[in-house]
Amino acid sequence: MQQTLTLANGQQIPYQLELRPRRTVGLKITQQGLVVHAPKRIVLHQLNQILQEKSTWIINKLALREANTLAPVQWQDGEHLLFLGQDIVLQVIETKAKKNIQLSGTELITHVKDANNHLLVGKKVVQWYQQQAYEDFVRRVEICATKLGVKPPPVKLSNAQSRWGSCNSLGQVRLNWRLIQAPPQIIHYVVCHELAHLKEMNHSARFYAVLAQLFPHYNEAEKLLKQLSPQLHRL
Ligand SMILES: [Zn+2]
Repeated sequence: MQQTLTLANGQQIPYQLELRPRRTVGLKITQQGLVVHAPKRIVLHQLNQILQEKSTWIINKLALREANTLAPVQWQDGEHLLFLGQDIVLQVIETKAKKNIQLSGTELITHVKDANNHLLVGKKVVQWYQQQAYEDFVRRVEICATKLGVKPPPVKLSNAQSRWGSCNSLGQVRLNWRLIQAPPQIIHYVVCHELAHLKEMNHSARFYAVLAQLFPHYNEAEKLLKQLSPQLHRL
């Protein structure tokens, strides 16, 4: 039977509950999602507690499954992409004229000489993403720096596979260009996090006090970023 697990942070995870002649609760992740095998006599609130305790495992496994099932980007007309948390559609137009990529509504219009040259289409689109990322990040860094009462540090784009941002002891801030795919508040959170490091070069309680002044709901943003991570790494 279909059930829903509600986690402490409000996240809802649907699962298939199958009652079996067994003594323990078993979990597995299938193509359809989470499946729970439980003893026939289990009480629901007891089961719920067991699932809560295993929630980290469940979330990680589901994220992994999602990353593995996400289709790689096809750099061709009609491909769906993510920009500032919105679904946008790639439109590839063949032309001899040189034109800049343009976002018009939810259409990302890309002019190329040869629409079948998917590699080149991809390169052009990624360059556009990086340009948008740079402009957006610089603006956010300025806003956060002003709030923090510091001079806006120089911003560099990073291409890291595992980190969204970093700040070194010289006060240089690096932000992963892939973040521009995420909803604005998530980008803002990462910027605030890195700028808070200008005051505290660690993850101490003092650091989180600074961060909370810049971005009060940092916990939720951090969780959302983790969930989004597989999607953001599609590019
Ligand atoms: Zn940090």
